[in-house]
Amino acid sequence: IDIREDVMSNDLQPEQVILEGKLGSGQFGEVKKGVCHLVNKTVPVAVKTLKNNDPAGEKEILREATLMKRLDHQHIVRMIGVCKGESLMLVMELAELGPLKKYLEKHLEMKVWHQVEMMLQICDGMQYLESRDVVHRDLATRNVLLVTEHFAKISDFGMSRMVDSNSEYYHAHGPGRWPLMWYAPECLYYHKFDSKSDVWSFGVTLWEIMSFGARPYDRKRPQEILNFIESGNRLRKPKNCDDRLYNIMLSCWALEKGKRPTFREMKPTLDHLYKEFKIT
Ligand code: ADP
Repeated sequence: IDIREDVMSNDLQPEQVILEGKLGSGQFGEVKKGVCHLVNKTVPVAVKTLKNNDPAGEKEILREATLMKRLDHQHIVRMIGVCKGESLMLVMELAELGPLKKYLEKHLEMKVWHQVEMMLQICDGMQYLESRDVVHRDLATRNVLLVTEHFAKISDFGMSRMVDSNSEYYHAHGPGRWPLMWYAPECLYYHKFDSKSDVWSFGVTLWEIMSFGARPYDRKRPQEILNFIESGNRLRKPKNCDDRLYNIMLSCWALEKGKRPTFREMKPTLDHLYKEFKIT
């Protein structure tokens, strides 16, 4: 379906957005399920709402909306619009089955081809971001949502930034509430983010997929994790994980970011593995 023209046009009127139940909690408010009446159709939506009109939250939601508006890819949650009612709302397409992390935790019987299918779709969406100079900065299975059991979309652009074409990376002002276990060393030490730091997070996401949503690095503290990585250690190979998949993870965790593959380079490798696992 082409919701694009509606997306690109005006903001939504409050009457167009009907809220139903709660889907989850976000940093600045709740995410609710609902429907949105567009020109010639009604679509199911997820709506990020803001609690008590917090101005800082408003700024963050607008920033997220501005970035999402520029993106258009099948494996990335599309924004439908922004609605300025009593409080600000970010209206997005609904991914009915929710976070991949929860799905993995409940489906320990999942076949490897199905796991690789998820990896391939995430890689496809990330390749699009990489080509558009957008860094996601929060790639993890909790931020991959399922539309169906076989269709994943990358979500949560709350931390995402455009990388200025004049510079090679986004320089964050300071550590905030950062997902340390998914971050490359250069992010933690120098606050430098680019697609190669998303590649590191992608490696951790692959590890989570093969570990059925387990928490990376057990209960290690942030400093312990850094020391662990600096001494050359990496997350262990998940149980029953194919060596070729683990090798992709290890390549994503090269200390030197120039040695990590790009998403574009990983796609054919994952595609090949997917086809092989699918027939065997
Ligand atoms: P925050 O960045 O503020 O933590 P998220 O974007 O991660 O907020 O959303 C919080 C939760 O809301 C998610 O974990 C998910 O359960 C639900 N959610 C968010 N967006 C959607 C969507 N498009 N479709 C379905 N559920 C969603």
